[in-house]
Amino acid sequence: MFATLRSFDYHEPRTVEETLRILAQLGPDARILAGGCELVPDLRRHESTPPAIVSIAHVAGLDQVRLDGEVLVIGARASLHAVERQPSLHADFAALLEGIGSIASVQVRNTGTLVGNLCVATPASDIATPLIVLEAEVQIASARGARAIPVAELFRAAKRNSLEAGELVTEVRVRRSRPGTGSAFAKLTRTAADCAKINAAAAVVRAGPVCAEARLALGSVAATPVRADRAEGYLRGRQLDPATIASAAAMAAEDIDPITDLRSTAEYRRDAAKVLVERVLGEAATRAAARKS
Ligand SMILES: Cc1cc2nc3c(=O)[nH]c(=O)nc-3n(C[C@H](O)[C@H](O)[C@H](O)COP(=O)(O)OP(=O)(O)OC[C@H]3O[C@@H](n4cnc5c(N)ncnc54)[C@H](O)[C@@H]3O)c2cc1C
Repeated sequence: MFATLRSFDYHEPRTVEETLRILAQLGPDARILAGGCELVPDLRRHESTPPAIVSIAHVAGLDQVRLDGEVLVIGARASLHAVERQPSLHADFAALLEGIGSIASVQVRNTGTLVGNLCVATPASDIATPLIVLEAEVQIASARGARAIPVAELFRAAKRNSLEAGELVTEVRVRRSRPGTGSAFAKLTRTAADCAKINAAAAVVRAGPVCAEARLALGSVAATPVRADRAEGYLRGRQLDPATIASAAAMAAEDIDPITDLRSTAEYRRDAAKVLVERVLGEAATRAAARKS
């Protein structure tokens, strides 16, 4: 299965500026190495044979997870575990922490980065759907300058991100949610350690018993993670009771067009979508009520 690695030039910059300069010089075929959970097996299977690799292991400042005022900043070298071990984040970023916690392999959570997970751009990402409903932004830098995009825009197609040549994701930024907001994540897998057959995340903002705003995202039901726009619109201004939540979940399930693959059938995914959305909406609404007081 694995072959001898093909040779490549290896770079270990120490600063973001040096990294961007090297990436600009190397051109589009160079690959960035973070935790290596995806890239190293790809290299060993010869699915990727880049002429040069730029490791960000020693780039100063990229490993931090910190609160910058009301914004959680997750650097490109921060492991998934570095994010989940911050107990102070639990109430504000519950869906994200549940998404990370659902990745069963301790080795992957310790070695893999949150940013690397997003850059792989798999529609089964358990990090993307929580970050989408939490309205996170991806900060991108290159020798040409810097830009920020919503997480959903990083996903162009299945396993294809929207980064351009020479671009480095430096960090992900997520604003602390306001009081009255709750979020939740859930997923279904064949085995605990497997990728999602389907996953879902919700964030709900309450105004008393009424839904002021709802954001819903589903993974593994299309080539990229998707928002459930119609269900979100339906929920706005309605009482967050079980019947309303069930109707919104049915709408979200009707609006997806999943495929059949080795993990699941399209029919199962559609049925399961209704169950998962109902579950995450209910949990997010309960958490939102608890955070009101
Ligand atoms: C056994 C196993 C089980 C897994 N289970 C799950 C699961 O259940 N749910 C789930 O969501 N994920 C799962 N994953 C995916 C895992 O979360 C990712 O592989 C990991 O987080 C990727 O991060 P990394 O730092 O190792 O990336 P790397 O392998 O270093 O890089 C991945 C890709 O992203 C690019 N890249 C990395 N960092 C940057 C950057 N800063 N800027 C631009 N491009 C960059 C690289 O060039 C490469 O193309 C699993 C992976 C494995 C191996």
